[in-house]
Amino acid sequence: MPILMVKNLTKIYESGMIIRRYIEAVRNVSFSIEEGEIVSLVGESGSGKTTTANIILRFLKPTSGEILVDGKDIWRDIKTFEELREYRKRVHAVFQDPFSSYNSFYPVDRVLYQALELLDKNPKSPESKSLIEEALISVGLEPKHILGKYPHQLSGGEKQRLMIARCWLIKPKLIIADEPVSMIDASTRGGIIELFEKLKEEEKTSILFITHDMGLAYYISDKILIMYLGEIVEQGSPEEIISNPKHEYTKNLIESIPTLYRRWE
Ligand code: ADP
Ligand code: MG
Repeated sequence: MPILMVKNLTKIYESGMIIRRYIEAVRNVSFSIEEGEIVSLVGESGSGKTTTANIILRFLKPTSGEILVDGKDIWRDIKTFEELREYRKRVHAVFQDPFSSYNSFYPVDRVLYQALELLDKNPKSPESKSLIEEALISVGLEPKHILGKYPHQLSGGEKQRLMIARCWLIKPKLIIADEPVSMIDASTRGGIIELFEKLKEEEKTSILFITHDMGLAYYISDKILIMYLGEIVEQGSPEEIISNPKHEYTKNLIESIPTLYRRWE
């Protein structure tokens, strides 16, 4: 059974008090993710990627359609706070902007202690301390250089590594990563991408990797979904998509990859 099945997902935003406006941000989207698979959702800004992510994360209600995680409908079968907490352990988010995930008044350690709370671990126990140190080392951070620091003392790349350290603590089955490197310096991007691959290899974590960068999707994915104006216009293995793109939009995305990254040529 796939970890995630998205079936005929549609989201229509309504706005305006006097004149109602309707935006169909996601239209009849279906796809699935197997255990240990990295699936990229690729599309330009405004194509409905974040809306799709937020519905899977159960932050936003769909207009219609189903999201099944381990075969359970996340909008029908999760009813209690405790069930939602369990869901937050199984499906975890890494967002685009690592800066917004921190409160500037607290040391950055707080994001790790919050993750431990989700696991019902006493943050003051020696076990918690060693779990945190292990998680930091897993993402290439030196605990003594990070713990006790405030957000402004860390770089964007370090902050994003720290968000991925949360994934090492929680060990979710599925990570929804919404443009996780688009605000990171190009020079540190590669290192962060490798951390997702390491989670996949060592923990069999499944990842929905959202990006507008086709070259990156080709590099990291087992499967690519192309999203255009709210719809998935085609999907397949990176090789299939690159060697035989069917949709005009996909062809444009491939054309826009810099020659330097055209590893398949
Ligand atoms: P992406 O992440 O691919 O850039 P989004 O899912 O953020 O796309 O947006 C898809 C469409 O839905 C866009 O046209 C956007 O303007 C619109 N949209 C996103 N969020 C809202 C909202 N809260 N209310 C109304 N329209 C929205
Ligand atoms: Mg977005």
